[in-house]
Amino acid sequence: MTKPKGKTPSLLVQSTGIPIAEILTRKSACTRCKEDILSGKRCFRIPKTVSGFTTRKPYCLTCFRQILDKTKADIAELESEFNREQK
Ligand SMILES: [Zn+2]
Repeated sequence: MTKPKGKTPSLLVQSTGIPIAEILTRKSACTRCKEDILSGKRCFRIPKTVSGFTTRKPYCLTCFRQILDKTKADIAELESEFNREQK
């Protein structure tokens, strides 16, 4: 195996980009549950590509927690699949 060039890509980056944490400077509605996230509160923005350009949608901490858990579950599944193939 030849050494791969460049930085190791992450699955998240290969989709639409990595989510970012942000302190809101004005009130926004959570993309998923539609609850208001107040100004000064932390939210996470998940990039989403719509007709060729990327917007970063805000998610409240509760929703992002669930999304994070789902992502971890998906990764855990890939992890066990990967380990199975190794044998
Ligand atoms: Zn929410």
